[in-house]
Amino acid sequence: MIDTKALVANAKPAVFWSDQPGAPDVAPPLVGDDRADLVIIGSGFTGLWAALQAKEEDPGREIVVLEAEVAGFGASTRNGGFCEASLTHGLENGLAHWPKDISTLLEMGERNLAEILSTVDRLGIDARMDRTGQITFAVKEWQVEHLREHAETAQRHGEDVVFLDEKAARVEVDSPTYLAGVFDRNGAVLIDPAQLAWGLRRACEELGVRFHDHSRVRAIEPRATELIVAGHDGRVTADRVIVATNAWAEPEREMRRYVVPIYDHVLMTEPLSNEQMAALGWKGRQGLADAGNQFHYYRLTMDNRILWGGYDANYHKGNAMGTACEEPTESHEKIAGHFFETFPQLEGLQFSHRWAGPIGTTSKFAATFGTNHDQRLAWAAGYTGLGVGASRWGARVALDLVDGRSTERTELAMVRKKPMPFPPEPLRNMVIQFTRGQIEAADRNGGRPGPWLRLLEKFGVGFDS
Ligand SMILES: Cc1cc2nc3c(=O)[nH]c(=O)nc-3n(C[C@H](O)[C@H](O)[C@H](O)COP(=O)(O)OP(=O)(O)OC[C@H]3O[C@@H](n4cnc5c(N)ncnc54)[C@H](O)[C@@H]3O)c2cc1C
Repeated sequence: MIDTKALVANAKPAVFWSDQPGAPDVAPPLVGDDRADLVIIGSGFTGLWAALQAKEEDPGREIVVLEAEVAGFGASTRNGGFCEASLTHGLENGLAHWPKDISTLLEMGERNLAEILSTVDRLGIDARMDRTGQITFAVKEWQVEHLREHAETAQRHGEDVVFLDEKAARVEVDSPTYLAGVFDRNGAVLIDPAQLAWGLRRACEELGVRFHDHSRVRAIEPRATELIVAGHDGRVTADRVIVATNAWAEPEREMRRYVVPIYDHVLMTEPLSNEQMAALGWKGRQGLADAGNQFHYYRLTMDNRILWGGYDANYHKGNAMGTACEEPTESHEKIAGHFFETFPQLEGLQFSHRWAGPIGTTSKFAATFGTNHDQRLAWAAGYTGLGVGASRWGARVALDLVDGRSTERTELAMVRKKPMPFPPEPLRNMVIQFTRGQIEAADRNGGRPGPWLRLLEKFGVGFDS
């Protein structure tokens, strides 16, 4: 019997990715009055990609980035590092919500991923990329047919995916739980997210973008044709503002109607020995996931640790965020148990790190956009669990909006129309917790959604991580 409590208690409560050397110097906080052409609020991937793209496009533009904590403090350094082409949280979700635009969205997603890779190469960012693709495994009988259908749909849309039967799946990686798989060869690249965030931050600084860390923005007020962005000890007068605070959904109140923070939990193992690696047979080093509604995602690091995350997606009443939402260890203990069910051959392996992070999700599980103050302010948020790649595109859309540019991107229904808002509290908490329970029940019941989930599906809304 594996003592998951002890295993989790022994893991360091820290994010593995940022628990390594190479973080940029912390920038001084905003004090006094400043002026900028563009202020970006939040320095996760959305904020950093917005700053980089805006500055490269117009080197004369004065850009200030205000971050409540430090570069990449949020989801951007806490994630699994699956950098995927999909802008829509997967093909099926894209087809369900934006069928008319799907080929454009697929093409834009592929181009976005290619441009991420070329930018990282061009700027010499050591993002430790592994261009390995991704396999999703069926671990319950009902998931086999789902995966077969998924492979057919993806192939019809020109994606380079292949269905793996049980034997072929277990040749790729050996787990007694695998019943089938779908290998997506080109749709995902594995990265070290902290190295990417830190590299983007340095590249922006070299181009002259000005950063202020520990500078939480409290309010944005219009004054004539400008916006006053106010922190605790200083303020910036700006022509344009991009809000890139994702799950925090602040200081722009409207974001809170559409974006809720969901806490996702991650464990990192100690490095595997050569014998342990051989017992897995994971030679292709692909990113992996299972096909449950509540699913795990996992991958190898450069030094052969396994990052293992997902499954529980915890919402805390009132859009609550912060360390109190990261601390409880039940979700970690649960996924530690799942880890050894998946890889019993690794019994005895320890976890070195455990952490949690906030995913900003919408009722359509993909990014949504808004503007305010005569379009002098734009926001992009809500990528759900697929924002590592999509945030660069989201930043591009926010720049189009704030600069008043009509582009192929701003014409998309996904950009023009907002998802259904979440209800206000206390109903929000009740609906989300009830829906979570129903998702769990569907997984126990052969993947079949009950009446509540079918009703939500009918209205084109739901809850996911
Ligand atoms: C555990 C976990 C695993 C994930 N795994 C993956 C994955 O493998 N692949 C994938 O594609 N996606 C994944 N995601 C999602 C992905 O990480 C996010 O979608 C993406 O990083 C969002 O970037 P962002 O810049 O929009 O938000 P964030 O990185 O969260 O940045 C928002 C920033 O805004 C700052 N901020 C908030 N309020 C204020 C304020 N008032 N003033 C100033 N600053 C403020 C915050 O401090 C934060 O730094 C995962 C997320 C989590 C949490």
